[in-house]
Parts: sequence; C-alpha cells; structure tokens
Amino acid sequence: MNHAVYSFERQVKTHTKADVVVIGGGPAGTAAAIGAARRGKQVILLEKSAQLGGMGTLANVSVFMPVGNVTGIYREIIKEMLADYLPAGHDESVAPQYSPFLLRQYLNDKMKKEGVSVYFHCEFVGTIRSGSGIGAVIVSTREGLRAIEGDIIIDCTGDARVAIDAGVPYRTGRESDGLTQPMTLMFTMQDTGKPVEKILPEGCYYYEEVSDLPQGRRLYWKQRDDGVLLVNMSRVKANGADMEQVNYAETEALKQVFSVAHYLQRTGFETYAIAHIAPQTGVRETNQIEGLYTLTEQDVVSGARFPDVVAQTNYEIDIHSPDAGKTTDERRVDGYDIPYRTMVPVGDIDNLLVAGRSISATHVAMSSMRVQATCYALGQAAGIAAAISLEDGVPVREVDIAKVQAELANQDARLLGR
Ligand SMILES: Cc1cc2nc3c(=O)[nH]c(=O)nc-3n(C[C@H](O)[C@H](O)[C@H](O)COP(=O)(O)OP(=O)(O)OC[C@H]3O[C@@H](n4cnc5c(N)ncnc54)[C@H](O)[C@@H]3O)c2cc1C
Repeated sequence: MNHAVYSFERQVKTHTKADVVVIGGGPAGTAAAIGAARRGKQVILLEKSAQLGGMGTLANVSVFMPVGNVTGIYREIIKEMLADYLPAGHDESVAPQYSPFLLRQYLNDKMKKEGVSVYFHCEFVGTIRSGSGIGAVIVSTREGLRAIEGDIIIDCTGDARVAIDAGVPYRTGRESDGLTQPMTLMFTMQDTGKPVEKILPEGCYYYEEVSDLPQGRRLYWKQRDDGVLLVNMSRVKANGADMEQVNYAETEALKQVFSVAHYLQRTGFETYAIAHIAPQTGVRETNQIEGLYTLTEQDVVSGARFPDVVAQTNYEIDIHSPDAGKTTDERRVDGYDIPYRTMVPVGDIDNLLVAGRSISATHVAMSSMRVQATCYALGQAAGIAAAISLEDGVPVREVDIAKVQAELANQDARLLGR
C-alpha cells in the first residue's frame, strides 16, 4: 500500500456560531450543552448520527450502571423518564434498565426545552486555530463541509477526536500494549409467547456451552415487565477508533449476535425472537487525552479526594478483557472524586475542554469512570466551566473552580461530603 500524503485545502463557508460548541451528543455532550445553556450561553451541539444519547442509544446500552449518586442532570433523567427508580437522596445507587428509544426522544425534547441548537448528521472533521485557541470546527454535513464558530469548544466525541486534531497529546488503551477494552454489539430479544424458529445464518457459530460464549458468561437484563431481554454477550477484540479494526468488529460482532441469540433460544429463551440490534457496535474505550491531571488506579482504589472535584463515582473497576479472553476484571471501589483538571488538556489551547470517557485517565481508572451517569456529571461540569470561562474572560485552565462548584450546586448537582 502506497501511503501517500496529500494536503487538502478548501474554502469552507461558516454556517453559524455560538458561545459554546459541543461536539458529540452522548451523555457527556448532552449534559455539557445543558450545563452551559443554563448559564445563559448560546450552545450548539453537533452530532454525527441521527440521535442523542451516545452509546446509551446508538449502541443500545440501555442500563445505567450504579455510581453511588443520582444527582444533577442524571437525576433529572431518572426523575422525568424512570420515576419509579428515583431515590429519595442524591447519595444512593440505582441501576435501571431503560428503553433507548424513549431516551432518544427524551433527550431531543430536553434539548429543545433547554434552548440548545442540535445539529444532526454533522461529523467533526477538523479544527481551525485562532490566536491561542480554536476559532471554528469544520464539520461534514448533508450540505458538504461547513465551519461552525465557537468561543469555547467542548470535545465529547468519546474518542478525543477534536483534541487530537488540535494537537493535544493522547494515549490509547492499556499502558503496556495499547490494547483497549473490546467492543460489544448489544441487542434485544422479545418474548413472543410461543416457540420461535431458531435461525443460525451461514458463517455464524454454534455455541454449546457457557464456556464457548464470547464472554464466557450469560449477561442480560430483563428488568421491565414488557418481555424485552437486553443482551450484552458479544465481545470483539478491536479498538473502536481504528478504521480497519472497526470493519472487522462490525462484521464479527453481528455474527456473534445471531450465534448468541441461537444459543439463548436453545437454553431458556425458546419463545424469544431478535427484536432489535443496535445500529453500531458499542465502543468502551479508545483514546485518553493528556490533561492537567491524570486519574489513576491508585486514585480509584484509595478513594482520592480533590479540591477541584466536579464529579464522583463508586462504580467498580470493570475491564472486559482487552485480549478478548473470557474474563472480566471487576473490583469494588468505595468512591472517589474526579478533578476538573482531567478535562483540561495540557498545552496552549485556551478554549478547549474534553468531557466523557476520553478524559485524562489511565486504562484502569477509565474503566471505572466511563459509565453513563459519570459522563453526564462530567459533561455538566464542563458546560458550566465553559460558561464561566467566557464570563470571566479567562482560559479554561484558569477557571475559578469555586464558581464551577457553586453553579453545579445551583443546578442541583451535589458533590457528596462537601
Ligand atoms: C457495550 C457497552 C456496554 C456498556 N454498558 C454500560 C452500562 O451497562 N451502563 C452504563 O452506564 N454504561 C455502560 N457503558 C459505557 C457508556 O455507555 C459509555 O462509556 C458512555 O456512553 C460514554 O459517554 P460519552 O458521552 O463520553 O461518549 P459516547 O457515549 O461514546 O458518545 C459520543 C458521541 O459523540 C458522537 N461523535 C463521535 N465522533 C464524532 C464526530 N467526529 N463528530 C460528531 N459527533 C461525534 C457519537 O456519535 C456519540 O453520539 C457501556 C458501553 C458499551 C460500549
């Protein structure tokens, strides 16, 4: 293969501008947009797919893992969409299964109510530097390339795509060999009330025993009384930010889905048919930026506390084998703080924050902070910090953390023990 390098120059028209431009409409991005909008800022949220919710909807994750608190925007989601699960206190854990279709609708409606301008089918392509910051981002749209200008840019792509383009140093996966957690294609089956035809398409696998299954275990949820079985049982060794590996993952994961469904139909779910396969294979881990602080395994296991705390979790260390072996490293943790500095890239860019699963964290630490509730919490804090940076005319690295924490409280996001 001839790896020629081309330079690519185009005149790109500016479509619109905003105080804060958020890229990626997953848990972190939706919450970042709300956090900034509630502080009176004009906010644009750019999403490459047709839906908000990130892995929670696009990859059909459909369960909120317990994190030891139900607060801020995450609490609003539980209260407004899953009221039966709303705990009295902010310092309790819930782990509800939800409908990804309802979450998708809920988030659309929520963005409208919060005054956030959402642009679907807008995929980030590149950054345009301006002075000591990023002046605009280039997006690929249904009309071709367009520029969107913003005073503060928040990268919530999950892959640190914006930060990497802007030159922020990053690392990928396990420190020893760069392997990331494997990918999983989530799917649901529906109880039809009568035995179903079992179909095993050509090229799929016949799993005999639990030990033959890709994760070596049966992992599914059937919390709701609607006959829906949510299945998390495929496992593909791949880095979700690598072009070639993603091609392999999307085909291999689909084969595993049909194979797992066939296995389940033979082993207890004889009346269940495949109802929905997520539009894309879920990505647990790709790139982590190098931030002003890097969250470590030691922080997670020792229950570290930080003066610039903006989010908290007690979700376990949860590492699906990066080698795609059949093991999962699960270790209980008691709870720790995540500092603001993990969202602030090192270097000289004054107006870029990174929220969600690609913050500055080691492989082990990110396995605990990566779940949805924590990404909503980080996003909300990033949106607030962006707004305060603008109001005070300071770079994001110099934002007054006491003001961020006060606004978090004002938006009913509680930091326990403070
Ligand atoms: C298979 C699987 C199972 C999981 N199970 C659970 C679970 O049970 N409970 C739980 O709470 N968490 C679970 N997680 C983790 C959780 O879903 C994710 O870590 C979380 O969604 C991360 O949020 P995020 O906002 O950082 O990124 P993401 O959810 O990845 O969202 C990123 C968004 O950015 C968009 N985007 C990416 N690139 C661009 C671009 N160039 N331009 C524009 N938009 C872009 C994407 O389309 C997406 O909408 C699971 C994850 C996976 C993959």
